[in-house]
Amino acid sequence: MALIPVILFIFGAVIGSFLNVVIYRIPRGDDWRSQLRSLAWPGSHCTGCEQPLKWYDNIPLASYALLRGRCRNCGERIPVRYPLVEFGNAALYALAGWYFGPEPLLLPALLFISLLIAVFFIDLEHYIIPNVIVLPAAVIGLAATIAIEPSRWLEILVAGGASAAFFFLIAFIKPGGMGMGDVKLAGMMGFYLGKAVLVALFLGFLLGAIVGVGLMVAGRKGRKSRVPFGPFLAVGGLIALFVGENLLDLYLGIFDQGM
Ligand SMILES: [Zn+2]
Repeated sequence: MALIPVILFIFGAVIGSFLNVVIYRIPRGDDWRSQLRSLAWPGSHCTGCEQPLKWYDNIPLASYALLRGRCRNCGERIPVRYPLVEFGNAALYALAGWYFGPEPLLLPALLFISLLIAVFFIDLEHYIIPNVIVLPAAVIGLAATIAIEPSRWLEILVAGGASAAFFFLIAFIKPGGMGMGDVKLAGMMGFYLGKAVLVALFLGFLLGAIVGVGLMVAGRKGRKSRVPFGPFLAVGGLIALFVGENLLDLYLGIFDQGM
């Protein structure tokens, strides 16, 4: 059993390396066909000098440390996002391996983790949540969770549908705050999390409020300037994947006693 998290850490670092290509290329692609082409042949390049990376300079986590964060060819700084994505994906894969064990639910959980990491960094930098990520993810999540736990089909459909509808309502009432990307992301998260999506959305709003107020106090952002909401939803989703159902039960338990 102890072997599973170790294997998943290594696997997660490799997938994380691929995620860095996704995060860099998808927002820069012109259309989905060229996006898919560039993803099928990632071939990592230095974004400074365009030099293709040698295999030994492209080993997840290790190469960044050995190169001390600079390109061997041109000396350009490698963004800290690269090792961060690799480590984050690796650590969360290991955690999922420990938490879910060798069960079918582990597979959609791993996919969910990588999707949310990609959405986190793309929305943070580009203010978009690409359809080419979220829509296939929603279909796969819906199909996989219902195939694995057929008795939960209604819960999963309602969780995804209601989350998307809720965000659509917010976007409708207060245009400019939420985008359609947030609507689709919330729906997608519901398909993976079921009722635990409530915890994810709550944590997303809580984190968004804390960071928003923090930025205003620090004078970094005015009341009007835009902070993307996707990264907060993504963090909420990652926490809810592991503790969402427990937190929900705890909350409902307190509520029962209070009545
Ligand atoms: Zn370079």
